Amino acid sequence: MNIKTIELKIKGMTCDNCAATIEKQLTVAGVVSKKASFKKHNAIVSFNPDEIAGEQIIRLVNDTGHYEVEGFQEIKPAIDDKPHLVIIGGGSAAFAATIQAHELGARVTMINEGLPVGGTCVNVGCVPSKTLIRAAEELHQSNTPKFPGIVKQGKLQSFKEVIEEKRKMVKALQQEKYISVVAEMDNFALIKGRARIASPKSVFVNGETIAADAILVATGASPKIPPIPGLDEIDYLTNETAYELEDLPERLIVLGGNYIGLENAQMFARFGSKVTVVELLPQILPTESPELAEELQKFLSAEGIEFLTNARTSRVYREGDEIVLEMNIEGKERKLRGTHLLVATGRKANTGELGLQEIGAELTQQGFLKVDEYLQSNVEGIYGAGDVIGGFMFVYTAAYEGKIAVLNALSQVKQKVDYSALPWVIFTDPQLAGVGADEKQAAELGIDAEAAVLPLSYVPRSIAAKDTRGFIKLIRNKQTDELVGARILAAE
Ligand SMILES: Cc1cc2nc3c(=O)[nH]c(=O)nc-3n(C[C@H](O)[C@H](O)[C@H](O)COP(=O)(O)OP(=O)(O)OC[C@H]3O[C@@H](n4cnc5c(N)ncnc54)[C@H](O)[C@@H]3O)c2cc1C
Repeated sequence: MNIKTIELKIKGMTCDNCAATIEKQLTVAGVVSKKASFKKHNAIVSFNPDEIAGEQIIRLVNDTGHYEVEGFQEIKPAIDDKPHLVIIGGGSAAFAATIQAHELGARVTMINEGLPVGGTCVNVGCVPSKTLIRAAEELHQSNTPKFPGIVKQGKLQSFKEVIEEKRKMVKALQQEKYISVVAEMDNFALIKGRARIASPKSVFVNGETIAADAILVATGASPKIPPIPGLDEIDYLTNETAYELEDLPERLIVLGGNYIGLENAQMFARFGSKVTVVELLPQILPTESPELAEELQKFLSAEGIEFLTNARTSRVYREGDEIVLEMNIEGKERKLRGTHLLVATGRKANTGELGLQEIGAELTQQGFLKVDEYLQSNVEGIYGAGDVIGGFMFVYTAAYEGKIAVLNALSQVKQKVDYSALPWVIFTDPQLAGVGADEKQAAELGIDAEAAVLPLSYVPRSIAAKDTRGFIKLIRNKQTDELVGARILAAE
C-alpha cells in the first residue's frame, strides 16, 4: 500500500475542540491517520490515494463551513537508506559487530539484559578471573621463592580488599572498553530490555516492535547446571557469583575439571582455600590428550589441590555449615564435604525465550543457534555470533564472529569464518596453550600423526628462571610432514 502524507494549513481553528472537529470530519475511508492542531493551524493527514484523493480531503475540511484550507504540502518520508541492524545481546560479539556496522554506515540498535553491558568477559568472565588469578599468583610466588637469599613474605591480609580492587577493575574496563566506545556513536541506540524475535525482520522489546534489515543474535551463554538431585536446593556458586565472595571459602568443591574449573581451583587454593576438583570423566581437560591432562594435574596437585576423576555425583545437600556431595567413584560410594560448591560444568546457550524456533530458526541438539560458515542461520537475515553459536567460546572468537557476521549481513563482502589456526590459553600456572589438533584430536580426524616433545628442563630460558615445569609438543602429519598442532605447558 502506497501511503501519502500531506500537511494542510487551516484557517479558523481557535481551540482543541476545533481540532477534534476536523479530525472527526476526516474519519472516512482511505484516511489512515490524522492529527489536527489549533496552535499550529494545521492537520497532518496520511491517506491511501487509491481510496481517497488529496482534493477530497481538502473539500471535507472546507465543507465544515467554519474552517478553510489555505494551502497544503506533501510530506515525503525522511530518506534514510541506512540499513538497520538490531543486535540482541551486549557482550563482546555485540560490540565488535556494532563497530563494524558503524564503519559500514549502518544504524544499530543494541538490546541487552541479564548481565550488565559488556556481557560475560568483562563482568563475570575473563577480567575478574584473570585479575584474581594474578593476585593469587603474586601471593603464591611471594611464599615460594626459588632463589636463595629471598625469604617468604606473602600474607593475605584482606580477601575483601582483593575483591574490592577487582570490582574497580571491572568497572573501569567496562567503561573504557565498552560504554565509552559507543557513547559518542551516531546512529546507535542501546536499549535495556529482554528481546524476543517477532519475525525475521522485527524484534520485540519493552512492549515495542522494532523493524530491522538484519538481526544479529549475540546473547552469549550461561553456566550449565547438571541435573543432580538436591543441587537446586542449595546455594551453589558459579562464575556469576564466585568473584563477589568477600570471605574466602574454607573448603571449596569445584564441580568440573575443564578450564574454568581448573583456573578457579588454583586461584582459590593459592589464596588459601582447601580445594577439591570433582570430574565426571576419567581425566581433567577431557578434550585434550591424557598425558597433557596428567601433567597439568601433577603440578596442580603439588600445590595441594585434590582431584577426584571418574566421580559421578548422585546427590547434593546441606548439613549444617557444610555442603555434602554423595558420589560414586569407580564403584565405590563416597561423601565429600565442603563449605562452598562452585559449579563449572560447562556453558549453555542463551537461546531460550528468544523466539528463534517460532520463526523457524534451527538450534543444535545442545540448544546453540545453528549458523552456516557465513554465520547466517537458516532464516535469511538472522545471523549469530559469539558463545550463542557454540564452538570456540572465547572473547576473541566472539569479537571475530561479530565482525564477520556484520560484513556478511550488511555489505557485498561474503566472508567465511576460518578457525584453522586458532590459538587458546588456559590461565593455570603453568599455563597451557594450544593451536590446531593434538595427537588425540588428529586421530579423531583420521590424521596419521606423531608428536615431538621437548621438556622444559632442556630449555635454558626455563632453567634460568628456575621453573622447568612443562614441555613443548609439536604434532606432525606423518604423511604430509605438515604441522597439525602444538601444545605448550609452561609457566610463561
Ligand atoms: C569464568 C570465565 C572465564 C573466561 N575467561 C576467558 C579468557 O580468559 N579468555 C577468553 O578469550 N575467553 C574467556 N571466557 C569466555 C568469554 O568470556 C566469552 O567467550 C565471551 O564473553 C562471549 O561473548 P558473547 O558476546 O558471545 O556473549 P556475552 O558476553 O555473554 O554477552 C551476551 C549478552 O546478552 C545478554 N542477553 C542474553 N539473552 C538476552 C535477551 N534475550 N535479550 C537481551 N539481552 C540478552 C546477556 O545477559 C549478556 O549480557 C571466559 C568465560 C568465563 C565464564
